[in-house]
Amino acid sequence: MTDRKSELAGNLAQVEERIAAACAAAGRHRDEVTLIVVTKTYPADDVRILSDLGVRHVAENRDQDAAPKAAACSDLPLSWHFVGQLQTNKVRSVVGYADVVQSVDRPKLVTALSKEAVRVGREVGCLIQVALDAGESARGERGGVSPAGIEELADLVAGAEGLRLDGLMTVAPLTGEYAGHRQAAFDRLMDLSTYVRRTHPAANMVSAGMSADLEQAVAAGATHVRVGTAVLGVRPRLG
Ligand SMILES: *Cc1c(COP(=O)(O)O)cnc(C)c1O
Repeated sequence: MTDRKSELAGNLAQVEERIAAACAAAGRHRDEVTLIVVTKTYPADDVRILSDLGVRHVAENRDQDAAPKAAACSDLPLSWHFVGQLQTNKVRSVVGYADVVQSVDRPKLVTALSKEAVRVGREVGCLIQVALDAGESARGERGGVSPAGIEELADLVAGAEGLRLDGLMTVAPLTGEYAGHRQAAFDRLMDLSTYVRRTHPAANMVSAGMSADLEQAVAAGATHVRVGTAVLGVRPRLG
């Protein structure tokens, strides 16, 4: 094993242990939670190692970095998640490799994703990104739609050709009433998910929790955690 491979294997084992412990503490089965490794700023070589180590879901937040990486790893049995703010002019590229777009936060983006998915004959999974720091009807600092805007977007995605409504995603807010209250933020996301599932029962993905707060997300009921730093190391720059 190379040094990097044993480093990543060790980190993965620790993260796995944390997820298992959080599941046990919450009375949940380990297989109710899927680990997505956020590989942003790290090279395709690391993605390949992760795949060798059994990782099946990876996430990226910038198309410029993700597109070449996904192309270099197209032989690997990986699901690619896009988790960054997405401009409509990047939609064509992103639909080329993303299995799931977790950052759907406005009608214009739904239209663009649908059009491109139909054009290339793919089905793209979509999560509505919820901004718990956004005021009513506003959008969040780091993307996302306010809770009041979820229903409209969910209905739009569900009715859009080429798209599949998979559920909700959030990033614990740094500002607003939920700043410093991650557990409450994730509990709120779960309530919103319950509400969405009344009309869209199959939209049962809840993506929440990162390196610092995966335990709280699992306790709240998250089905997917997105972990970068704890697996790959501290990123050299903000990504
Ligand atoms: C970077 C990123 C993560 C992972 O964050 P870590 O703190 O490195 O685990 C998760 N979700 C999103 C949307 C991200 O951009």
